[in-house]
Amino acid sequence: MIQETRKSTQRGVTACTALVLGSLITLVAGTAGATWGEYSAAGKTVLAIYAHPDDEVSAAPVLSRYAREGATVKLAIVTDGGPVRDLEALCSTEALGIDPPILMGFEDGGTPEQMREIKGAIQALFEEVQPDIVVTWGPEGGYGHKDHRIVGAIVSDVFQEGGENVPEAVYFAGVPHFVFDAFAPISQQGFGFKIVWGRTDIDFLRYRIAFTEEDRDAAVAAAACHPSQFSPEFVQDVGNFFDVHENKVYLRKSHAKGRKRGSLFHHGHRGYFEGREWGDDDD
Ligand SMILES: [Zn+2]
Repeated sequence: MIQETRKSTQRGVTACTALVLGSLITLVAGTAGATWGEYSAAGKTVLAIYAHPDDEVSAAPVLSRYAREGATVKLAIVTDGGPVRDLEALCSTEALGIDPPILMGFEDGGTPEQMREIKGAIQALFEEVQPDIVVTWGPEGGYGHKDHRIVGAIVSDVFQEGGENVPEAVYFAGVPHFVFDAFAPISQQGFGFKIVWGRTDIDFLRYRIAFTEEDRDAAVAAAACHPSQFSPEFVQDVGNFFDVHENKVYLRKSHAKGRKRGSLFHHGHRGYFEGREWGDDDD
């Protein structure tokens, strides 16, 4: 494999040898300690930021998992859904075993007019919570809802500005095509969900977070906390939906920090290690 991937020039050989040695050191270090899937969540703070009560169901198994593993998991909801939905949000956080919701109180459906204020509130939230990582809506906003898209964009805006209070990473949960191909809804809401929800190419979803049956059941229980939004049949469909996830929630980083690049066409190791997956490059 080394022979195949070496460049013919002296410079290429030197660069490639350094990379191969680097990979070997990583492999040795990897076998000596925990493997890549086993980083501990204990003592970490996960902050999920969503637009409405019920949005958290989209990433619910991962919130349940990290709470179960000893992380502090918080859910912030940007818009005000009224007293009924406030209680539904509280029920959902209890079902997931996470902290009570942080209700930010902005007008439901009014995020476009309040973007500056929401940005300030999210900056203050980062200062207060000091999250290690944040999970929020990606650019598709689930099914394209303006409040979802705007909340995800404002979180990204605050994050890319940097500073001492921003988390290590912001993640978007995404649904790969194969999940919806396999999802067989039983409810009218489920059929609608299958049609309108955004899909993300699996190659972008490099963070594949395994969840247990317990996390899956917690997600269904969280969905059942929102009767003002979800029919009982749709709650069953939430279970059917997570059952075709191959026991993983799929996420991607909103932004990747990392080594400097001198070309817009230099995406990673391709050209050094032919045959390696594009997604195998580090961040
Ligand atoms: Zn929503």
